[in-house]
Amino acid sequence: MDIKALDQQYVAPTYARFDLCLVKGEGSHVWDDAGNEYIDLGTGIAVNTFGIADQQWIAAVSEQLGKIQHTSNLYYSEPCARLAEQLCLRTGMKKVFFSNSGAEANECAIKAARKYGENKWGEGHTTIITLKDSFHGRTLTTLAATGQEVFHKDFLPLTEGFVHAEANNLDDVKRLADEIPCCAVMFEVVQGEGGVRPLTKEFLQGLEAFARERELLLIADEVQTGNGRTGELYGYMNFSITPDIVSTAKGLGGGLPIGATMLGERVENILTAGMHGSTFGGNPIAAAGAVNILSRIDDELLAGVRERSEYLWNELSGADGIVSVSGLGLMLGIECEKDAGEVIAACRERGVLVIKAKNKVRLLPALNIPMDDWKKAIAVIKEVCKK
Ligand SMILES: *Cc1c(COP(=O)(O)O)cnc(C)c1O
Repeated sequence: MDIKALDQQYVAPTYARFDLCLVKGEGSHVWDDAGNEYIDLGTGIAVNTFGIADQQWIAAVSEQLGKIQHTSNLYYSEPCARLAEQLCLRTGMKKVFFSNSGAEANECAIKAARKYGENKWGEGHTTIITLKDSFHGRTLTTLAATGQEVFHKDFLPLTEGFVHAEANNLDDVKRLADEIPCCAVMFEVVQGEGGVRPLTKEFLQGLEAFARERELLLIADEVQTGNGRTGELYGYMNFSITPDIVSTAKGLGGGLPIGATMLGERVENILTAGMHGSTFGGNPIAAAGAVNILSRIDDELLAGVRERSEYLWNELSGADGIVSVSGLGLMLGIECEKDAGEVIAACRERGVLVIKAKNKVRLLPALNIPMDDWKKAIAVIKEVCKK
């Protein structure tokens, strides 16, 4: 039986997969099981930060694999402590809780915010304002946080305690904060699954001022925007704001599952022994890989991200068949006159793998994609989008 048939028979049908089975890769190149080669602009949804089979990352992971693969959180372990140190030193955050995915990183952020609200104002003062068209994960609580009805239906009742404001509308946030006993506002600086839509600097800075005034926490969901993706180490750094909690995952592990919730000084000690935990959280192999990834997201790499981004904006803005370009750094959305699904299929036929976000073609290439590959891939997209 071939892989596709096997998968369709035995794997739960929750994914609309592309008709493609990937078997290996090198950097920004991947091969399918028929030997066809592609330039990969999806990186497993912003996960393979330095592409596939990156030698430095493999060395870091392999070295740890040969020492100890898992300890549980009953013991100290070096990679976890080193990674937490690096995250704090580079963000100014104070403490880190490790988990295994973006949804879990957000769950911890939500628990910390609720505890903060309860400590400060008493029981029930724990509602979190999130934004419409946001995406925060698939657990019942992070679904409740997600401001998109399509994800909610069929799974009611969801966790209580979330209200959704219009993105980029500070008055709407203020209105909700006046009506409901809130403890925090949670947002993605670029809404990824919501269609690669950046929030405005004006909104984010106004939000920060309002949150400070009301002593509400600012939670930045940097699961997708984090780890160099937007041209800064974390997306919020593009907007000169300081969140109280930053959650991240996807690109941090370079391909291994990891989630991290960074806690700033207002909440650094809010979760105490026994209040939260994760068996795999801070796993030595994932953490050793992440230490390597993080150490390489330096000024030079970030300048390269911005340069590649600029190249795309210059090439595609106003080009034939392109309605608009959106996003930040190497988290990019392209609205085409043609249907996004058609464009994606045509790109694939020409050896370029891209993905979708709402009605847009979404690009999330490796942060170090060679300029040659990037240029080639953009030329293909441009050609395909032409009317
Ligand atoms: C992908 C994503 C999540 C969920 O991450 P998982 O690892 O799939 O649980 C949460 N928030 C944002 C912004 C994301 O892009």
